[in-house]
Amino acid sequence: MSAGTAGRASPAWPDGASRVVGVMGDPVAHSLSPLLHNAAFDRLGLDWVSVAFPVPAGAAEAALTGMRALGIAGLSVTMPHKAPAFEAVDEASAVARRLGAVNCVTRRADGRLAGDSTDGAGFLAAVERAAGFTPAGRRCLVIGAGGAARAVVLALAEAGAAEVAVCNRTPERAEAAAALAGAAGRVAGGDEVPHADLVVQATPVGMAALGGDGGGLADLGVDPDGFRPGQVVADLVYLPAETPFLAAARARGALAVGGLGMLVHQAALALGHWTGLAVDPEVMWAAARSRLGGSGP
Ligand code: NAP
Repeated sequence: MSAGTAGRASPAWPDGASRVVGVMGDPVAHSLSPLLHNAAFDRLGLDWVSVAFPVPAGAAEAALTGMRALGIAGLSVTMPHKAPAFEAVDEASAVARRLGAVNCVTRRADGRLAGDSTDGAGFLAAVERAAGFTPAGRRCLVIGAGGAARAVVLALAEAGAAEVAVCNRTPERAEAAAALAGAAGRVAGGDEVPHADLVVQATPVGMAALGGDGGGLADLGVDPDGFRPGQVVADLVYLPAETPFLAAARARGALAVGGLGMLVHQAALALGHWTGLAVDPEVMWAAARSRLGGSGP
């Protein structure tokens, strides 16, 4: 099982004994997940390799059937497959069942596929590491109501947030996301930024992949003058590391947290599921920084 770093460096590696994991999505070529997984396998001295599987929309169930047949040990699941993958796994964690989505599939020894959603736990670990933020008793505002926002809303509520307010372009989706937080959840407007201890930007606005500056605060209905010192402001977008949203928050004295930490911590949780081993996220941080540049939080 153990290849050691010499084995991994050999021209003959990976070989017939190597175990395969990966990430499936569309698009997926840009994904940092194989880099993060392989850095951890390297550190752990495991003869495992992670690759990216481009799987078109509508083919998640077929891909998971292939995972069973091929003995692929684990898959990270990204857009647009998180909900269809939930439908196709044999069993799902309590969090995945609440969200109706999985971002991590583990092939058990008997071949059954187990799904989990580690986005929320990854987010909490990231804001704690970067800002020392823990949600218990705090007021939180989540902007966006898609899959990532829903995972964050549920995680904040389960960690004891006093309030999880959700602001979204489409109000019906804000209501559905806020409902995940039970009594702590409600729908909010962008003008409520000053009242929050934690503000989370959970839409694609600001993503480099969208071209130009990827949109700005006006798209989100957020007044930048609402940011203030003492507030933690997190963006789930990680490319660029400093989005216009984070730049505006930092300029007004808030503590800004980029999206890379969430990616790193959910990847560490996925590796724990697949290998049964504890993974130090620091080795993944180092790999991400070497690819993207910057020092991280
Ligand atoms: P999604 O399910 O498609 O949801 C997108 C959300 O953003 C929706 O609430 C949508 O509003 C809103 N939105 C989209 N464009 C907007 C615009 N121009 N103005 C205002 N609101 C807009 O996407 P997702 O999976 O939740 O992903 C959201 C972001 O999180 C992406 O950038 C993704 O890369 C990032 N993410 C990061 C990590 C990480 O590890 N760092 C993990 C997961 C996701 P409507 O409801 O009105 O359509």
